[in-house]
Amino acid sequence: MRFLSIGECMAEFAPCGTPGTFRMGFAGDTFNTLWYLRALRPDIEAAYFTAVGTDNISDSLIRQMQVAGIDTSLILRRSDRTIGLYLIELADGERSFSYWRNMSAAKCLAEEIETLTEAIAAADVIYFSGITLAILKADTRGSLLETLRQAHAAGKTVAFDPNLRPGLWPDPETMKTVVMSGASASNIVLPSFEDEALHFGDADPGATIERYLCAGADRVIVKNGPHPVAFGHQGKRDTVPVARISNIVDTTAAGDSFNAGYFAELDRDIPQHDMIAAASRVAAKVIQGPGALVQL
Ligand code: ADP
Repeated sequence: MRFLSIGECMAEFAPCGTPGTFRMGFAGDTFNTLWYLRALRPDIEAAYFTAVGTDNISDSLIRQMQVAGIDTSLILRRSDRTIGLYLIELADGERSFSYWRNMSAAKCLAEEIETLTEAIAAADVIYFSGITLAILKADTRGSLLETLRQAHAAGKTVAFDPNLRPGLWPDPETMKTVVMSGASASNIVLPSFEDEALHFGDADPGATIERYLCAGADRVIVKNGPHPVAFGHQGKRDTVPVARISNIVDTTAAGDSFNAGYFAELDRDIPQHDMIAAASRVAAKVIQGPGALVQL
């Protein structure tokens, strides 16, 4: 299986003890998922598609991906831009985030559509998110969605996490319209119920499943924090319980690692229920460690 993840990876500055001191790492939803997938399945070819700069910090990001076994050969380099950055601050145990990403190179990832089309053509499974769509300009976003639709029609597996982030969109209506187009280009949709209820007004996970199935997806898996995961697939609707975790350290990347756990089972001929149970076990480990990238 050759897996391609498309999106943005940023430099992360996280507080480390002494006030005013930060540790730099790299994170981003589609990157986190790929990093976990590679950790779970070193036998899978895992490639990342994004755009970065030609400066030192972009080189460091590429090196970190390569150390993790990720294929970086498709990543675009732009001398006029660099990677985005975010800073985490802690006040009374609450984390707050500041972002510098308006000029990030990743916003241009779909500008060389031939390169992107070739990358998609070479993959068996293609993964993207609502954040991938949010950072692009409307015209290049349209080109990416069209290429994904064609890949889906050609029999490839296209997987999408809506990852609703209203702050990245001009208005909630645009976010909802584009996210539904993302789902309609996909076979597998992996939403998180809390976000879906807030922005789409879904009364329960079943409503989220029906909405994305109606958009054209054929498999919808709805994550819901500590509550059972609900899924819809080929006329079947069911839920899978999630283990109770008593020592939660940090829920960052719970959804991203869950997705990786699910993708790690894609090429094994096992029931949905078992794929989802495996995905929940991965997320359970991740929320018991600090930060986005936890050694499994
Ligand atoms: P997101 O990170 O996208 O908001 P969720 O919070 O729904 O996603 O969590 C994704 C998965 O992580 C859940 O389906 C579950 O398997 C696991 N998880 C998250 N929070 C908890 C929790 N409090 N207890 C147990 N498992 C959890």
